[in-house]
Amino acid sequence: MTAPLIIIGSGFAAYQLVKNLRRKKSGRPIMLFTANSGDEYNKPDLSHVFTRQQNADDLISHTGAEFAQQYQVELFANTRVEAIDVEAKAITANGVCYPYSALVLATGATTFVPRLEGDASQEIITLNSLDEYRCSQQRIALAKRVLIMGGGLIGTELAMDLAASGKQVQILEPGTQLMASILPDFVSTSLEKQLRQEQVSVECRSYAVAMKYLDGTIQVTSNKGLTYQVDGVISAAGLRPNLTLASQAGLQVNQGIVVDKQLKTSADSVYAIGDCAEIDGKVMAYLQPIILSANTLASTLMSESSTLTMPAMMIKVKTPNYPIQIGGAHDVDSQWKVELSPQGIVAKAYDQQQRLTGFVVTKDNINQAFPLLREVQTA
Ligand SMILES: Cc1cc2nc3c(=O)[nH]c(=O)nc-3n(C[C@H](O)[C@H](O)[C@H](O)COP(=O)(O)OP(=O)(O)OC[C@H]3O[C@@H](n4cnc5c(N)ncnc54)[C@H](O)[C@@H]3O)c2cc1C
Repeated sequence: MTAPLIIIGSGFAAYQLVKNLRRKKSGRPIMLFTANSGDEYNKPDLSHVFTRQQNADDLISHTGAEFAQQYQVELFANTRVEAIDVEAKAITANGVCYPYSALVLATGATTFVPRLEGDASQEIITLNSLDEYRCSQQRIALAKRVLIMGGGLIGTELAMDLAASGKQVQILEPGTQLMASILPDFVSTSLEKQLRQEQVSVECRSYAVAMKYLDGTIQVTSNKGLTYQVDGVISAAGLRPNLTLASQAGLQVNQGIVVDKQLKTSADSVYAIGDCAEIDGKVMAYLQPIILSANTLASTLMSESSTLTMPAMMIKVKTPNYPIQIGGAHDVDSQWKVELSPQGIVAKAYDQQQRLTGFVVTKDNINQAFPLLREVQTA
């Protein structure tokens, strides 16, 4: 009997792959191992659970069992894969060996939690999965003051959501501006102004160095020697792809598990997709690259020829009181043409040859995002 396709993980990447395979009419047996329940949910919804007053279970669209039945998958829920033997083409989980004909790692990423001095550092909350939210939802609901470590996309979205649900929020951002990796400074400044109006304090060039219990609360000390007395601390200090299984199996890893344009790793019949994968030297922890990757990988697994191409893509920043959409690419050498008005910003990035490479639109101008994206894609 032919060994099944084994998938490790039950996040968006794994489930998108399963859906693509079944949509393409692949009847191939699939075993899916996941460290969690396998319940399906839309992870970006974690950015607005506080204003919507949703608990973890409210986000579940299908239970793991429902998903498994609908897509004819043998689900091993709450089962962590312990090892991969690429020579024997088998994985080990709960001490049992399962052979595979092909193996897909969709093991995602883990939020980086900085090591801090003090007795309260174990209180740091992370929100990169439904289970993490489930563990901390009660604590966050009761908190009046929340400190967020990191003013990137996720930290900023969470800050606006927490503030809109009535909490005082403090962001500590080590860099010089919010969302430095995706926003030009003039947009960050406008966003920061909006956040301040919503009682979110932003302290740039700042990071936590210590956390201790104080009078039933938590006192956080920053590198500048400032102290913040809060009821909860969330780390949004960036993601680290989960590489342990892959590196122990001898797969080539760098920032992520290195894959080619067919999502193949360095080992025969082993593939990687999603937040754990590195494509063209980049880890792209967003849904759109995963959608494109899942389509390509499904074709690859069905022996159809397919090569991943990444068109200019768009990121929507879920800060509802100051909506932002970012498209294409820009870098330090980009020349910006910026229109500022009470309706928001339209900023276009051009390269040395005066080609439009990217853009950022805010507030009422977000309706210009799709036409601009088409311009970037055809430039
Ligand atoms: C708050 C928040 C908001 C976001 N908003 C957006 C947005 O607006 N737009 C956007 O494009 N992206 C957004 N993202 C990012 C997007 O959600 C992720 O890129 C995507 O969900 C990652 O999916 P994944 O399947 O690769 O990883 P994950 O969802 O992390 O899944 C990894 C899976 O692997 C399993 N696993 C790991 N190791 C093992 C093991 N050894 N054995 C068994 N199972 C294992 C885990 O249990 C899990 O099921 C957001 C992310 C967050 C946290």
